[in-house]
Amino acid sequence: MEQQLNTLLTLAKEKLATISSSELLEEFRIEFLGRKGEFTSIMKGLAQVPKEDKPKLGQMANKAKKDIEALYRDLHAKLSAGSAGNTGESSIDLTLPGRKPETGKLHPVTQIMNEVCSIFEGLGFSVAEGPDVEHDHYNFEALNIPAHHPARDMHDTFYVSDSILLRTHTSPMQARIMETQQPPLRVIAPGKVYRCDSDITHTPMFHQVEGFLVDKNISFADLKGVLTIFTQKMFDKDLELRFRPSFFPFTEPSAEVDIACVICNGKGCRVCKRTGWLEILGAGMVDPEVFKMVGYDPEVYSGFAFGLGIERIAMLKYGIDDIRLYYENDLRFLSQF
Ligand SMILES: [Zn+2]
Repeated sequence: MEQQLNTLLTLAKEKLATISSSELLEEFRIEFLGRKGEFTSIMKGLAQVPKEDKPKLGQMANKAKKDIEALYRDLHAKLSAGSAGNTGESSIDLTLPGRKPETGKLHPVTQIMNEVCSIFEGLGFSVAEGPDVEHDHYNFEALNIPAHHPARDMHDTFYVSDSILLRTHTSPMQARIMETQQPPLRVIAPGKVYRCDSDITHTPMFHQVEGFLVDKNISFADLKGVLTIFTQKMFDKDLELRFRPSFFPFTEPSAEVDIACVICNGKGCRVCKRTGWLEILGAGMVDPEVFKMVGYDPEVYSGFAFGLGIERIAMLKYGIDDIRLYYENDLRFLSQF
């Protein structure tokens, strides 16, 4: 009987080596491991062996069966993995549609920033970027903001040291560029700015675009023309513009610029607080004091400057009333843009 078991094992191995399909493997299973198979018939012979040999032969028979079963399982797994359409756990169905990788998108604030830049580039402006960590001098002094001005308060500005701070606007680029270049100048400076402020319309970090143009014979009409073209392109609408007198230390005269409400078209709604107007940016003619500080002759040159908040424009363009949504990194919100 021992002889029989060894012969069967060798035979099974030889047979398995020639099997190349699931059908043949199934025939093998029936022939060797089935209820009427070779193995079962040998096991039936176990009844006739002497009693004292039974334990040893029984053990041998069990081991032989396990060996054959293990070989069978290996080959079965191999064959199912290789055949498409098989439902086995390890199989790969090549006919299934592929999984699409998730694609990333630009943040809505970045999208608006790029759009603003490309509109001004179309008007002949060049783009300049400056440092976020700025000297007190460029952020305040060179822009005609004296030491006692309330904007320099610790409550409004993040100071790194006594004379170094996180810039509170992108206007320092005006001074930095005028210091090193001669007019005519047409520049926009986009970037991050920082202020100690946080509520539904303010975040401690936000984005601004500073723009300025310096040349001979530049007037307020040029400023109005450039801003009109910009707002029309930005909101894809023929929007009315309104200039309200205001004050900035580095422009004279200065104005807050409103556009007709993009939500209600000037009729009055909740967003525009029933006024029909939305404040969109600050602007003005460059103050002669700023020109003097960079060595331009204010009798020869004039220019205008403006600063706009990117988040503000994004909120108006997309009708979003809480600025904080832009920075909560909720993909359900961000993926809509
Ligand atoms: Zn409105």
